[in-house]
Amino acid sequence: MGESIEYIRDKTIDKEIDISCIKCAGKTSHKVVSSYDLRGSYEEADHSFHWATDHQIVQCQGCKTVSFRKASSNSEDWVQTSYDGDGEYVVEESVYPSRVEGIKGLGEDRHYLPTKVRRIYDETLQALSSQSPVLAGIGLRALLETVCKEKNATGNDLLKKIDSLVAASVLTPASAAILHKIRTLGNSAAHEVKPHSDRQLGLAMNIVEHLLKDVYILPKQADSEFGDDV
Ligand SMILES: [Zn+2]
Repeated sequence: MGESIEYIRDKTIDKEIDISCIKCAGKTSHKVVSSYDLRGSYEEADHSFHWATDHQIVQCQGCKTVSFRKASSNSEDWVQTSYDGDGEYVVEESVYPSRVEGIKGLGEDRHYLPTKVRRIYDETLQALSSQSPVLAGIGLRALLETVCKEKNATGNDLLKKIDSLVAASVLTPASAAILHKIRTLGNSAAHEVKPHSDRQLGLAMNIVEHLLKDVYILPKQADSEFGDDV
């Protein structure tokens, strides 16, 4: 009767779990290197409730990056998986540092970005990683606005500004055509508070990262590698 809580140390060491890797960009096998798990239960005469929270330090078996995984479940939340009434518990999983499947991020290269651009890039990546699709959509649009401003784009709306960067040879017409698609994506997030799907946002982020590489990162890397010889 009553409540009981138990903590179990290192019971799941060497267990392998598939989670998104922050470096490998995609799901990879992660091995538990240390764990501290909570098992709780509440019992009454006619009712019982159980809950579990696993805390694991995990390591990607590809790139060896170490991160933290928390997985919670309880006896009330389960889904039926067969007609016989079999089911499994719903596991709520969070990983730290947060990440989005399929997005590597710019990593250390982000230091080549101008301060304002870098700040919005970081916050947008954060929104994308923490399942905040409306904020991520607004962030992508704000990133485009900031790049336009930083590159002295002209025009009174984002459409004209992007086109002016093509005229100034900052962007190729092909990149501009893709950016126009993201521009409208940010529009509906900002004005209609309409979230976009993870796939749309992931693709848009990849495109914006290409833009940031073309406009800021590659020119600076080329400068430091080759100097003025090229
Ligand atoms: Zn990895």
